[in-house]
Amino acid sequence: MNCPYCEYRGHRMDLHAHLIKEHAEGIKIYVDEALGKMVFEMSCPVCNESVKQTLKKSAAILAEYEQEIRMVAFDLLLYHLQEKHDDLVQITKHDKS
Ligand SMILES: [Zn+2]
Ligand SMILES: [Zn+2]
Repeated sequence: MNCPYCEYRGHRMDLHAHLIKEHAEGIKIYVDEALGKMVFEMSCPVCNESVKQTLKKSAAILAEYEQEIRMVAFDLLLYHLQEKHDDLVQITKHDKS
């Protein structure tokens, strides 16, 4: 699969690790004022579709869970990419490099 943010390419698991390490900012974790709850938001860099989910964790202990939240959120992004942008993320025969 191709990384939707940069030129990186690799297997799904490797790409997942790459996203967490290099593109952590792709997942926004914040307090939604309207909901009064912590949420994470995953936006697809290809089509800008976003998925927002509320978190049960409190802000105080959030730091501990950030990594975990990102793992889950990027997993959602990968599913989204496979479902909606198959042509972009597949390792194609027409390699540009
Ligand atoms: Zn990347
Ligand atoms: Zn998308």
